[in-house]
Amino acid sequence: MNTLLQTLPKVDELLKDPLFAHTQIAILKPIIQKILQNTREAILSHNIRTLDLTQLKQEILQTYALQTQSTIRPLLNATGVVLQTNLGRSLLHPKLLNEITPLLTSYNNLEYDLQTSKRSERTIHIKHLLCTLLDCEDVLVVNNNASAVFLILNTFAKDKEVIISRGELVEIGGAFRIPEVMKLSGGILVEVGTTNKTHKSDYETAITSETAILMKAHQSNFKQVGFCSSVAFEELTQLAKQYHLIDYYDLGSGYMQGLQIKEEPSLFELCKNHPSLLSFSGDKLFGGPQAGIIIGKSHLINQLKKNHLLRALRVDKFTILALEATLRAYINQEFDKIPTLQMLNTPLQQLAQKAQILLKKLAPIPSLEIEMIEVDSLAGGGSLPQVPFRSYALLCKSVRLKTSTLKTRLQEQGLITRILQDQICLDVRCLFEEDFDKIATIFEKILCPVSSNAK
Ligand SMILES: *Cc1c(COP(=O)(O)O)cnc(C)c1O
Repeated sequence: MNTLLQTLPKVDELLKDPLFAHTQIAILKPIIQKILQNTREAILSHNIRTLDLTQLKQEILQTYALQTQSTIRPLLNATGVVLQTNLGRSLLHPKLLNEITPLLTSYNNLEYDLQTSKRSERTIHIKHLLCTLLDCEDVLVVNNNASAVFLILNTFAKDKEVIISRGELVEIGGAFRIPEVMKLSGGILVEVGTTNKTHKSDYETAITSETAILMKAHQSNFKQVGFCSSVAFEELTQLAKQYHLIDYYDLGSGYMQGLQIKEEPSLFELCKNHPSLLSFSGDKLFGGPQAGIIIGKSHLINQLKKNHLLRALRVDKFTILALEATLRAYINQEFDKIPTLQMLNTPLQQLAQKAQILLKKLAPIPSLEIEMIEVDSLAGGGSLPQVPFRSYALLCKSVRLKTSTLKTRLQEQGLITRILQDQICLDVRCLFEEDFDKIATIFEKILCPVSSNAK
């Protein structure tokens, strides 16, 4: 036993081993120490009787790799769902990134007024564009829409009442629930109406001297059909005006323009009635970076700015610049610079062609049966839950692997798919044609490992 312990290399010896020449000593040393200690203990407890030095070094190298490799990687989205929080929501277009790179890599006037040499506000860069687009009074940008909801409730409804319909007490993925956010912000929730029906009179009857806000929350990820009705935000705005209250709409997605949809009023339409406050996400249908965008009356936005919480919800220059570039794309009607819109807008004919091209790439792979079909894809991200976007997909079945196994293997290689009719469904909507060769290689690697090794 002792002899085995004696053959255990010293930390310093291992550090000098050429095998570790390209590692960082500060990271490597504790790994070596830990592995040597484990080995020592294993020897003492008779769990190992021989020492394989090569294997020991490999273990060190593998641990080092695991601890230093990046864990985030690009993925190919074949689910057809455009907005997925788990996959990073809206993509940013390379053109847009090129526009902002010079500003990210140099100093800039983010918060500096070049006329007065005084400190200014970072959101003014967004304000002038958004006010041009929407004819609104003022704008504030925070970390995400959840922050926007929280900031608004905390500023105007702390220990005061917020009236909201029972049909709008929604839960968004990732544990965002309107009642919980209300509680945390200090606002007192006053539910009115029923799950399926709420009338204007329900709000009106609930108004007391303690009421601060008449709130509407977008149902986002679900849709009520049948015997149901809700009060239009426009009516809430009128009611709020009548009683000198604040009307606030948590819009969730925030649809600006660029899609052929009737289901969702655009921000333009919503702003026509000059609401007190609206808030929406920057990275849902709007198609920009993660942010919470608040628009509304100047005196209210000014009060939001005075809340010390704002400092904790402040966005980085990256967000401001990416938002600004997205807004410029909207102003110039360059929807091709907003991938979310581009993906949702792709004509069916073009998707069919895209599916044909992918089919040709995958067809030569032996043991893969493929069929091209028409499917519905979804906007996702809690947007437009009932609106089907017609698309084309390839249904693939392997004669060698179970579909669930194939799905897992594809995912390990970075291709995210869904299962339809017990087959792998590759919806082409969110795939890029330049990745089709990569997709073919992934299938080859999984289904014919020998032949692809030989290449
Ligand atoms: C998505 C959503 C939120 C949360 O927005 P984030 O930008 O993800 O923080 C809040 N409210 C509604 C209605 C939503 O749809």
